[in-house]
Amino acid sequence: MTTKTSQPTIRVHRYACQVGSPEYTEIKRQAKAAGHKLMRVYPRQPGYIRKVRSGTYAIDTKHLFGDQYNTTEDSGNLRLHDWYEEINPHDDDSRVGYWCELSPELEAAKDARHVCGYCGAQYDNPTHHMCRRCLGSPYLKADELHMLLLVPVRESSGADRSALVGRLPDGMRAAFEREQEHAAEARKAAEIQRATEHAHSLVENARDAVTQAEYERDFHLACIKAGLVRFLSNLIYYTHKGRFCFGWRESLTDEDRDTLQATISEMQGGDFAPFVDYK
Ligand SMILES: [Zn+2]
Repeated sequence: MTTKTSQPTIRVHRYACQVGSPEYTEIKRQAKAAGHKLMRVYPRQPGYIRKVRSGTYAIDTKHLFGDQYNTTEDSGNLRLHDWYEEINPHDDDSRVGYWCELSPELEAAKDARHVCGYCGAQYDNPTHHMCRRCLGSPYLKADELHMLLLVPVRESSGADRSALVGRLPDGMRAAFEREQEHAAEARKAAEIQRATEHAHSLVENARDAVTQAEYERDFHLACIKAGLVRFLSNLIYYTHKGRFCFGWRESLTDEDRDTLQATISEMQGGDFAPFVDYK
């Protein structure tokens, strides 16, 4: 696989050895020296680990985590953990897993990356302490403000954010109240806008209905004038299609159909004829 020099990467060290072996002792030493904690699991997808071979993988840094990584598409779209082993329930003495050596670029990306505990938004080297997206959230409560503190991803996995309450910057509460006020005003303005549009649409819709009713009335009057009054109880107008239909209640006889078609094709110069159906 090819990687750019600036591309954050991981070097995977895959292993399969016996639990008490010198090889495993050395692996544990190296993984711990890298600061990793072992994740030893019953695999959700058995054999997933077979896809992870020793080698270098490019890491997608769009979203970073404290102890796991997404490889790029070119590197197989894998989820790699710092140090990972799959439990084999039939063999308690062997250890199958891998540990990851992070490139300096990936370490630097992790140093830079901070995350909001409320919405999960990530920021690189933020100069502000709090997530700006969340301050105006209508669901945010004043006693949840510490969730918005931007914490380095390294500290974020499993972090107890309630311990961060003391790190809330001065003036945070005032900024929160200001932002909540702005957001509430913006929501109210949007609501007014929607309601106003709806109010105007009431009249527009009524105008359309009147236009349709006038058209239907004109057709009825033209039919009466043309001597077709006895067919009107068997006529319907479908406003959504803009079409009239004779025979919707009771099917027309061939003779009635001929009479209607002939008369309507003459009526008002045949204006209505294309919009009339016969059943
Ligand atoms: Zn946020």
